[in-house]
Amino acid sequence: MDQQKYLSSDELLEKIFYYMSRLFEEKELSTTLFLLTDLGKTLVNSDRASFWFWDRRKHVIWTLAALGIDTISIPEDSGLVGASMQGNEVLIINQPYNDPRFNPEVDKSSGYLTKSILTMPVTNSDGKVIGAYQAVNKINTDGSDGEFTDEDVKRLSLATAFCGRSLESYMLYNEAMEDPLTGLKNRRGLHAHYERRIATLRIFEKASIIMCDIDHFKHVNDTYGHNAGDEVLKHVANTLSSSIRIDDGAFRWGGEEFILLLPHRGIEETTEFAEELRKSIESDVITFEGTDIKITMSFGVSEINPELTTEENVEAVDAKLYYAKEHGRNRVVNEIPEEDPNGSSENT
Ligand code: GH3
Ligand code: MG
Ligand code: MG
Repeated sequence: MDQQKYLSSDELLEKIFYYMSRLFEEKELSTTLFLLTDLGKTLVNSDRASFWFWDRRKHVIWTLAALGIDTISIPEDSGLVGASMQGNEVLIINQPYNDPRFNPEVDKSSGYLTKSILTMPVTNSDGKVIGAYQAVNKINTDGSDGEFTDEDVKRLSLATAFCGRSLESYMLYNEAMEDPLTGLKNRRGLHAHYERRIATLRIFEKASIIMCDIDHFKHVNDTYGHNAGDEVLKHVANTLSSSIRIDDGAFRWGGEEFILLLPHRGIEETTEFAEELRKSIESDVITFEGTDIKITMSFGVSEINPELTTEENVEAVDAKLYYAKEHGRNRVVNEIPEEDPNGSSENT
């Protein structure tokens, strides 16, 4: 256990400035959370700290595990964190085992002994609760077990005020990149992802792009209605996002048009993958309000040319998708034959 001393006001300011400057530059959620949590822990000198989000849509609160990989998600009304968020109140509990709101089961399974807890809601600029800090086990200046006091509340409020704003800007930044219907990232999200994951690949590392489009989707809408069409879009989005690897990205490029970015895969592997997706989509039955709907999709596949811009790479793969559409649909095209540069022969 770190034997930190309580920070003086000057040291405190220095810490806050340090975290602030790093947080402003940070775009990765896991790092942002790590920094925010660490700031809170430093300010109150606790053994552990966690930061919890409130997802009001899904009625859960969640946090990232220590290494920032897995998330832990619990019902929004559970635990002290849930109570603190729902009541928008600070909770200080220095004898948790005597408090009925405390759930000792977590200690039992982890072997950790909780001795004191400080939970504080975090609000956005409208004063709406969006998350909460939880600090566990206060450590005194001399390293002994302590109790949380009003001084800790004061110090942690500094962090929460700042935390609310950075979290809010992070959430807005992400919302702007997300397609609300399918939950996939949108066009803006693709550009951000491309800059971060594709443009930074070393020159000898391959990466590929798939662009795909639902065949005769207008017919789906006309026959089964717009809501059924939406259901089909969600189905396609699920199929795509559940088929890709952790480093890949799936995006809704436009109405019924999707893009996959696949680092570390060359043209052959990507073509096989697109073919698997095509078959899977073709064989699926989408049920909407008791009606079975079947669709097919056309695919263009390219290896990304690092010399070209994102737009130019998208244009190149779009030409292949167009060729697939013009040559019967429900197919994968990874090359446009030289003798047929305009790609038009058939019109179905
Ligand atoms: P093709 O095989 O050539 O791609 O034909 P298509 O009918 O799929 O293509 P077209 O571009 O003619 O029509 C696309 C349709 O997609 C028209 C538009 O109304 C519909 N669409 C776009 N966005 C949405 C959406 O969010 N929900 C629904 N239900 N339909 C959408
Ligand atoms: Mg279409
Ligand atoms: Mg289209």
